Amino acid sequence: MTVSIFDLFSIGIGPSSSHTVGPMRAARTFVEKLEKQFGLAKIQGLQITLYGSLSLTGKGHGTDKALVLGLLGVKPEEAEPDTVPALMQQIHTTQTLALFKQHTLPFSLDKDILYNDHETLPHHVNGMLFRAYDSSASCIAENIFYSIGGGFIVDNEQLQHKRPLTVTKKVPYPYETAKQLMDFCNADNKKISEIVNANELIWRDQGEIDSKILKIWKTMAQSIEKGCSTKGILPGGLEVRRRAPVLYEKLTEQDKTGNQDNTMGWLNCFAMAVNEENAAGGKVVTAPTNGASGIIPAVLYYHLTTIPKSEHEAHICQFLLTAAGIGVLYKKRASISGAEVGCQGEVGVACSMASGALAEVLGGNVYQVENAAEIGMEHHLGLTCDPINGLVQIPCIERNGMAAVRAVNAARLALMEDGQHIVSLDKVIKTMMKTGEDMLSIYKETSQGGLAVNHPEC
Ligand code: SF4
Repeated sequence: MTVSIFDLFSIGIGPSSSHTVGPMRAARTFVEKLEKQFGLAKIQGLQITLYGSLSLTGKGHGTDKALVLGLLGVKPEEAEPDTVPALMQQIHTTQTLALFKQHTLPFSLDKDILYNDHETLPHHVNGMLFRAYDSSASCIAENIFYSIGGGFIVDNEQLQHKRPLTVTKKVPYPYETAKQLMDFCNADNKKISEIVNANELIWRDQGEIDSKILKIWKTMAQSIEKGCSTKGILPGGLEVRRRAPVLYEKLTEQDKTGNQDNTMGWLNCFAMAVNEENAAGGKVVTAPTNGASGIIPAVLYYHLTTIPKSEHEAHICQFLLTAAGIGVLYKKRASISGAEVGCQGEVGVACSMASGALAEVLGGNVYQVENAAEIGMEHHLGLTCDPINGLVQIPCIERNGMAAVRAVNAARLALMEDGQHIVSLDKVIKTMMKTGEDMLSIYKETSQGGLAVNHPEC
């Protein structure tokens, strides 16, 4: 399986890659298949059933809105968050929906999107069953999709025929483990970012790679800047106040005096800004998921404030390529889905990616980078996913700030030493997966355990 940097970093809308971006892609793919097989005009009814974690926390995560956008033909990177409330209202009022904005059919948000809390489909906890009906109300097509984390989807057909999740291409450096990645680096005297870049060249030329990375970064930076300047209460009913703008104002004031180190404050501020945007359904980049989308941008944004502007583009590309190289290891060997392995697979992985990437742009050798990535995950092992009310707000927003600070700490610690250490990155990835498998499902994005059930008594 070959995973591109742009599979890991994809532009979409909040609040959840597995509950928003994945379902949007699945709905769009289902309609594409219907169009090819029957033509849209034959479709007179649709029903979507959500299972497992998608059912339990789908409402809080905006899965219904994502499905509707996908049915309308919208791709995650094209979604305009500001238009979604009016769209939903229109569908609710007219009880109709236009597939791919072309073919109108009856559609009820209440009756045609069903939440099955009692069952989980066999292959993954984030299952969706799509059915299409003709004019005589006969079911003419059905397909099961799974949203497997980070916006990645897989359907039943792919599973039955064991088709790969992404196109398999022959890359010059086919690594599956951190050890193999480091061996390639040593053999060809390359950095991790250079190995990842060389693999990426099988899909596109250097100009396109650079411009796509800079576009990803532009969206990340915009989510920080919008989050730092947008005040108010986040949607969903928890009455969570957006805190990033307040932090931004205070830190700006404190910086004027110049007599205190505000590194941690700014990291918190930038990470929380992105996650508040995400929680508000705004535009963010999966890094590697929406719930953990603040950590990598915050660390990189802060790093850029410490170097000359002339070096920004080079550092942005190097940082994001290295981060992707590390993220791919988790994607291939473990999981980046909170519903599968808890928050260690989202915030933990993002922290590991950011730690390693920062170590590399600060001049670390491959052993120090691997060490930083390992530290970034080691101290997130066992981290549960227990969002209150199924909203990606508490503990998610603050947790991104904590992990951004931890990533800088991990990189600094690794750079103080020579990279020799006892627990390897490969071992910690394996441990993370096993810990996730052993974790009770109530701690895996179901909102049935932890803070999600205990907060009313506090
Ligand atoms: S607790 Fe972690 S994994 Fe769960 S929704 Fe929040 S950020 Fe995602």
